[in-house]
Amino acid sequence: MFDCLIVNGRVLNGSGGPWIRTDVGIKDGRVVQMGNLSESEAEEVIDAHDRVVCPGFIDAHSHSDFNLLVNPGAHSKIRQGITTEVIGQCGTSAAPVDEERLQKVKQQRAKEFDLDDVSWQTMEDYITLLQDRGIAVNCAPLVGHGNLRRLAMGEDDRKPTADELQKMAKLLKESLDAGAFGMSSGLIYPPGMYSETEELVALAEVLGEEDAMYFSHIRNEGKRLIESLREAVNIGTSGGCRVQISHLKAVGEENWGKVTEVLDLLQQARSDGLEVTADQYPYTASATGLTASLPGWAHDGGREALLERLADEETCERMKQDMQPDGWDDTLISRVSSDKNRQYEGRTVAEVAGERGIEDPREAALQLLQEEEANVGVVKFGMSEDDVCEVMQSPLVMVGTDGSALSPEGPLGRGKPHPRSYGTFPRVLGRYVRQHQVLSLSKAVAKMTSLPAGTLGLWDRGLLLPGFCADVVVFDPNEVSDQATYTEPHQFPAGIDYVLVNGHIVVEKGKQREILPGQVLRRSVQ
Ligand SMILES: [Zn+2]
Repeated sequence: MFDCLIVNGRVLNGSGGPWIRTDVGIKDGRVVQMGNLSESEAEEVIDAHDRVVCPGFIDAHSHSDFNLLVNPGAHSKIRQGITTEVIGQCGTSAAPVDEERLQKVKQQRAKEFDLDDVSWQTMEDYITLLQDRGIAVNCAPLVGHGNLRRLAMGEDDRKPTADELQKMAKLLKESLDAGAFGMSSGLIYPPGMYSETEELVALAEVLGEEDAMYFSHIRNEGKRLIESLREAVNIGTSGGCRVQISHLKAVGEENWGKVTEVLDLLQQARSDGLEVTADQYPYTASATGLTASLPGWAHDGGREALLERLADEETCERMKQDMQPDGWDDTLISRVSSDKNRQYEGRTVAEVAGERGIEDPREAALQLLQEEEANVGVVKFGMSEDDVCEVMQSPLVMVGTDGSALSPEGPLGRGKPHPRSYGTFPRVLGRYVRQHQVLSLSKAVAKMTSLPAGTLGLWDRGLLLPGFCADVVVFDPNEVSDQATYTEPHQFPAGIDYVLVNGHIVVEKGKQREILPGQVLRRSVQ
């Protein structure tokens, strides 16, 4: 007797081959048998007639680190078929932190969610806490380079001393020992932006020794895209560790088309022996904090120092001069923290400037940052869809939301966040596979399953075969599509009928059960 039996489906097992008509028998969280199981009995039977049955999707790039503590149901992720999230990206993870930093984070994010009842410091603490509270989705944690740097030397704009670098290496090793899959860096954000290649190579050596990965939000995705990519490749090669390029893209019209050279460069690095891969979200707009538009020096010393600078007229004038003068028509405000500016959510910075009678939109941006204590989210339209398609077709590229687990209900349903948190995977399957035939369904599924699983070393996930964990998605290939838009982002996708996590049915006929069968996965240490 099986716990669950999925019958009559077209199984795409994640390897990239054509579909097979077979039943899938699940017991104790794993796929135990495949083939014609029509004579078998099960606690629950899913009729997958006309549906595709495939391994659960692995979100190769997620920012759910804090959200999972307050939204364990991870609705915006689960409902799109995601069964594992790779968290701790772009240089920032929940752990490690010290007490002071933890209080700062709690305070800073208090308007989004309440973390008062929880506490942690090390990666081990965080993993245990997350597992004890429970999660609907599995997650694979990375450690943020920003966390290591802050603990070792604060938020200063300078090189680490030898002692500080050693401290970072020690903290990294501890996090990896606790089960982190690697380290991420965010080289456009403070304090990651203050690090030089040398510092990252030293840490990559630790990653190499542990056979862990380096995930890089590279230094520049526009004018200096190629050299930034070279830096990431060089860090992996010098340190002897695998590299994943985060949210691969070319930003800014003058850089469109550079992705061809970028993909060639990655292929060349692989031919030279470096295990390099990338992830991508299928949209032409990116999302970040408005603070990322400020010059690097504005962040020196951390958040308090930034708030002081924003409060000083003369310093504001200097910041303005160092900010990009254009692009504000394409910069949409996605989130503010105070009610008084709520009406600006979904509008561009240029529009806000117009409404306030300010000629230079940079001034409007600085005003908003000041009023909102630097908590302003933005969505920026800066990519070409041709580039998005070209990157998607590369066999080295997997799918990642670059978003966090949201829910239409409660505080996480506020604002106009980037729709990728709800729509990424269905958008690839609907818009890019079915409508535009950019890639085959089978290849798309492989990008979402076996490619990330193999890259991360999740050897019992990412394929639908006997012995593998029963993370499963059942979807309608004719209906699957994203519904979330830039103006109405809090919308679940269509066509995702069933989602199983570790053998448990979390989504049934498009409705989520409030159960938490997810696991925090730990890197297996040899
Ligand atoms: Zn990033």
